[in-house]
Amino acid sequence: MLKKLILEGLHRNLEHSSGAKANLDGRLCFDVMLSELASSKRSAYDKGCAKLLTCEGGWTAAIAAERGYEVDPSCCLCGGPLDTPWHRLVECPCVEDQRKAVIPADVLAILRDAPTEEQKRAALTGVFRHPADEAARPLELPAGQVIAMDWLTPEVYKQLDDLPACCRNYFIDGSRYEHTIKEWDRASWGLVVVAPDGSVLFTCGGAVPRSLPQTSQAGEYCGMYAASRLPPGFTFTDCASVEHSWNHRGLLGQVDLSPDSVYSGIVAKAQAGQGIEAMFKVRSHLDPSDEGITMAEAWLRHGNEEADAAAKRSQCYHPAISEAEYADANLLMRIARAFVDAASCVYALWPRLDLSGVKWSQPTLLLHPPRRRLVE
Ligand SMILES: [Zn+2]
Repeated sequence: MLKKLILEGLHRNLEHSSGAKANLDGRLCFDVMLSELASSKRSAYDKGCAKLLTCEGGWTAAIAAERGYEVDPSCCLCGGPLDTPWHRLVECPCVEDQRKAVIPADVLAILRDAPTEEQKRAALTGVFRHPADEAARPLELPAGQVIAMDWLTPEVYKQLDDLPACCRNYFIDGSRYEHTIKEWDRASWGLVVVAPDGSVLFTCGGAVPRSLPQTSQAGEYCGMYAASRLPPGFTFTDCASVEHSWNHRGLLGQVDLSPDSVYSGIVAKAQAGQGIEAMFKVRSHLDPSDEGITMAEAWLRHGNEEADAAAKRSQCYHPAISEAEYADANLLMRIARAFVDAASCVYALWPRLDLSGVKWSQPTLLLHPPRRRLVE
């Protein structure tokens, strides 16, 4: 877990430094590029072309001329005045068919009309200003609080306490909403109380707070903590890790405080509650209506399904990211994906620039000013 956090920190630092290199007051988001480069659907050649342009390593005639080489900066296909990456990817009429095959028509129309700086950046490099900097972050709770507890009123506690013991079956589950922009992953937890006849007597849930990883496993541990605050009952989880940390707590029944487990603090706090009389592992996401299963198995599957639904519904307890923010980011992501296709299918259609024997002199006027140096 520590390794994961350190890696995330390093990534964030790199995002900040590449943002500074791009003269941006913020960091760049590489998440779309990373997911595209990890995709097995793309060839090594496609990925290589995209990486080259993301690092602004492409040499077009206009770039070479700008860097002091005595070459004709015009496009060798259409004769346009400047052979720039933008000309190749968006403008040059000679490759319009290949371009239309990979860039969606609406994306192309936006890029040709009045694209924002970030849309241009995404089209040229596949990266853009990180949208998570401005948007709402996962739920924040006061230090030391595992989950929000406003759902557990004295009335609710009494209602559950008044139930016959056989009805206090707590099914817990965690859920994660995954987004290509990693920092927009959101996790939540759910708990349902299921009677022996399968009826759901009580449902609750909440967001996994910012202090924990936004994973469904974290959601499971939050659900376990919620169950521990209730009157004594049986708890059912589909998470092997939760079941293991409760039932196999190492020597002398002590909590497993291994530094590998980010959740040992939650387990210790849950132990201080009285709600979990026993913990059982159930299999996850199976259909309770399957034929040929026992009534007990169908009941377990039904409880797990209800807890899963409660966890999914509880996504709403996170501060909301606005529709507009999602729409902006989705458009940037589509442009970045189109960029990856265009890098190999459009940009690479030009013949390789041969600079051997070409005269070079120190450029006097740069079209793009030198970038701010990170280490002065
Ligand atoms: Zn051209």
